Amino acid sequence: MKTKAAITEEYGTAFVVRGIDLDDPIGAEVLVEVQGSGLCHSDLTAATFGSPWPAPVLMGHEVAGVVVDVGPQVMGLRPGDRVVGCEVVHCGRCVDCVSGKPWRCTRVEETLRGPDQPPRLSYEGKAVAQFSEVAGFARHVLLHENTFVKVPDELPLDLGAVMGCGVVTGAGAAINLAEVRVGDNVAVIGCGGVGLSAVWGARMAGARRVIAVDVAPAKLDLASDFGATDLVDASSTDPIEEVRKLTGGVGVEYAFECVGRKDCAWQALKMVRETGLAYIVGMQPPDSVMELNMFWDVMIPKRSLRAVYMGHSTFKRDIPLYAEMYLQGRFPLDKLVSARINLAEINEGYAKLADGAVARSVITSF
Ligand SMILES: [Zn+2]
Ligand SMILES: [Zn+2]
Repeated sequence: MKTKAAITEEYGTAFVVRGIDLDDPIGAEVLVEVQGSGLCHSDLTAATFGSPWPAPVLMGHEVAGVVVDVGPQVMGLRPGDRVVGCEVVHCGRCVDCVSGKPWRCTRVEETLRGPDQPPRLSYEGKAVAQFSEVAGFARHVLLHENTFVKVPDELPLDLGAVMGCGVVTGAGAAINLAEVRVGDNVAVIGCGGVGLSAVWGARMAGARRVIAVDVAPAKLDLASDFGATDLVDASSTDPIEEVRKLTGGVGVEYAFECVGRKDCAWQALKMVRETGLAYIVGMQPPDSVMELNMFWDVMIPKRSLRAVYMGHSTFKRDIPLYAEMYLQGRFPLDKLVSARINLAEINEGYAKLADGAVARSVITSF
């Protein structure tokens, strides 16, 4: 079948809307009509600097939609099911999958088509790669069943889209990785979709102070809605000093860098107390090189930097949980989506995101 997609013909160029061909679902594949596709900053970073997927490539890794067709081996989904996608596609059988760690599945290739099979997506006879095994900037997506989780009928799918990366990454960093506990102090640098979700996750987990840091007053206001107890405007104050002041000179147990800048990663490291952990959540560009004094910056203060991948989310557990908390009125998920746009407006949408003007834009019309 034909569908419409905003593809990246070559890395370093703008997204272009094209009519592409989708193969029929085979094996455990599912065809989904997309109702929401979020603009995550990582797609722009990858489209600009390159990624392991060869061009032409279809970016986008936050999708939600309705199942329209399934392959013969699909066990858990039916046409009409409302689903949220997540790039943590996993085989479901390897030792990591059965140990509850699908995000580090070692046999992802089992969920993909082999080189002897026709590509799922093509444009003018040429295969189009599926970035992050999601390829969401399109009217339809064709993916393995294990890319999706069924969500409640009451969950609006434009909101569901942002759960697939922004929410599971931010909330999962606080809840699954840091395992924030009652009484811990936390700082979150950057209050976009990921950072706001980290603020919320820390708040839900019982943090004593949840200190939100940003340079945009509108985003700091939003952080209050997600449960921040303190707001630090880094455009007018030194955020490291402010965080120290707010924690009696000690620093926070956990700091989350959700921007993807090395200066912010440095701030996160300096905000944590002795023995604290700075989590690197935002996608850093490939030229982000930071020099650390291993004696003064790491060993003496016993501080650690730790990378976060997708909030270490078991997304088939976490997304329905967060959806239920939204439906209970305990998670202001609707405030994460600040603009709903057409597929053709994707480049303008990213320009606004780069300006720091919006929390999250979601493509809702094609
Ligand atoms: Zn696996
Ligand atoms: Zn993302």
